[in-house]
Amino acid sequence: MLEEFEHASILVLGSGTSVGVPMIGCHCKVCTSPDPRDKRLRPSVLLRLGEKRVLIDTSPDFRHQALRFGIDHIDAILYTHAHADHILGLDDVRPFNFMQKGEIPIYASAETWAAIERTFSYVFDTSPTQSSRPRLDPHIFKNEPICAAGIAFIPIPVSHGKGTVHGFRFGDSAYLTDHSDIPEASLEKLTGLDVLFLDALRHNPHPTHSTVEESLKTVSLLQPKRAFFTHISHDIPHATAEAKLPSNVHLAYDGLEIPIGRSPGV
Ligand SMILES: [Zn+2]
Ligand SMILES: [Zn+2]
Ligand SMILES: [Zn+2]
Repeated sequence: MLEEFEHASILVLGSGTSVGVPMIGCHCKVCTSPDPRDKRLRPSVLLRLGEKRVLIDTSPDFRHQALRFGIDHIDAILYTHAHADHILGLDDVRPFNFMQKGEIPIYASAETWAAIERTFSYVFDTSPTQSSRPRLDPHIFKNEPICAAGIAFIPIPVSHGKGTVHGFRFGDSAYLTDHSDIPEASLEKLTGLDVLFLDALRHNPHPTHSTVEESLKTVSLLQPKRAFFTHISHDIPHATAEAKLPSNVHLAYDGLEIPIGRSPGV
């Protein structure tokens, strides 16, 4: 279904963990690295599918990301979950409301949407205001396939510590950010992939995140053609960590654009 697009790609807007890299006040090797791939904004990707633009999550760095990568319209926003590093840029959809003269379609689970309503209570305050507020058109999904911007997405439930959050499969690509475990039923939805994004926070175990080693096991199990690790902390220096990975596995970095669909592997 993505084959219909002349151009289809995943653009990494942010590959960092919740505090970003560099972390404020940290003087470690990665936080002070001159390698631009060690500068990681908070996690988000933009799908460029022909003229369609689908954003997954609005990180606290969303405004910066939109300016850096020249995002000039958004057809839909999909949310993985409501942790601060995935939603706090929501207010910055207002310029898209102005330019597109309408509401932005939002896709989220009921739990994520409820948390967005709590966190951004002013957005849903219906009393008259002299200020602008984001204008949103919410669509709540369960685990059934959804159609956003005319494109089919399959929500993939994954464990994030004790909670359940969502990744998304679209065509032969899937984006899974924060997760500590992938349930059997979700693994079954991730077979035959060209591109698979996985959480790989660091090397040491973490209660809510997958590590590089755990995600390598997921890659061995699911055998995607290409895997990209994201949500990376300052424990991982890009160049030396990337050199140790199998040839079909890469660390994502901000600005990485991966062609998908018609011409995989290009
Ligand atoms: Zn996160
Ligand atoms: Zn550091
Ligand atoms: Zn999270």
